[in-house]
Amino acid sequence: MPSDWQDDQYPPEERPDNRARRRGPTRAQVMRRRIVALASLAVVVVAVVIVIASPGDEQGGTLAATTGAGGHKGAAGKQAGKGGGASKSTGGGKVRNATPQADWRPYKGPVPILEYHVLGRPPEGAPYPELYVGRTDFEKQMNWLEKQGYQAVTLEQVQKSWYHGGTLPPKPIVISFDDGYRPQFTFALPTLRKHGWAGLLNLKAEGSELYESNVKAMLAAGWELAAHTIHHLDLTELGPAELEEEVAGSRKILQRTYHVPVNNFCYPAGRFDETVIEAVEKAGFTGATTEIPGFAEKGKPFELARLEILRESHVAGLAEDLRNGRGATGEVGA
Ligand SMILES: [Zn+2]
Repeated sequence: MPSDWQDDQYPPEERPDNRARRRGPTRAQVMRRRIVALASLAVVVVAVVIVIASPGDEQGGTLAATTGAGGHKGAAGKQAGKGGGASKSTGGGKVRNATPQADWRPYKGPVPILEYHVLGRPPEGAPYPELYVGRTDFEKQMNWLEKQGYQAVTLEQVQKSWYHGGTLPPKPIVISFDDGYRPQFTFALPTLRKHGWAGLLNLKAEGSELYESNVKAMLAAGWELAAHTIHHLDLTELGPAELEEEVAGSRKILQRTYHVPVNNFCYPAGRFDETVIEAVEKAGFTGATTEIPGFAEKGKPFELARLEILRESHVAGLAEDLRNGRGATGEVGA
């Protein structure tokens, strides 16, 4: 079982700077990542050897036990009866909920969208320590959601149901991750996979911590990629040309790099006004997420509310947010 000690693996110099530009990785960071990548490869090789050498029934369990966070016995178990979708236990392929399931129904009501930043322990002196959610906490929150009957889907799936006759699970929820921090690939991807869920990645087009290959792996699992500008600036302070570059330009960069539609946008630090919304609509986005607390609603496509999950939220705070979510949307208004 992964536990909080893993938080220490998050290098102290990599901090969330939700409100500022970032520099690129240092030489030391690149070296460390290469070492980590080689070590991961070694683990996979060992796991594959063990799986090949063991009897058929044991494969899932052996692999899960060997790779720790990479196992997905839960998802495999749920898929057993249906026989469809991604049932590989080797870590590849789309997650179950990337594809509409037989028990999904049309739904046009409000949907909670969770907002996460870094998964891990904040380093000493981190500027926004509240934006670091412990990894054990994150796992507990995902387990709790599943126990409550929630199932994570992408925002595109919600919009398909809201506007185009698509379907959703009985208790849909969207789990979004902002900016592009390393643990969103190394930890959120395998954790959500265990549940058969896809996430929503709101990615800065330049200067994030994720490699192209990381993002491609998330997309291959069924995650949705949304634009979060190029440089993470306060959009309400920009002139027309720079606003268009950050909004439409970021969409073009992501489309060109990843060959996916990039239908949704996320305002940096939740900052927007009428002019910003106009630019987002003009760039062809279907919707945009804010930091207004509450549930996202069909009638406010460019002011989609979210529930921000913080370090001190734990399971109790998440549960409370979901209980209060619907009311909060009405109170805050636009
Ligand atoms: Zn951000």
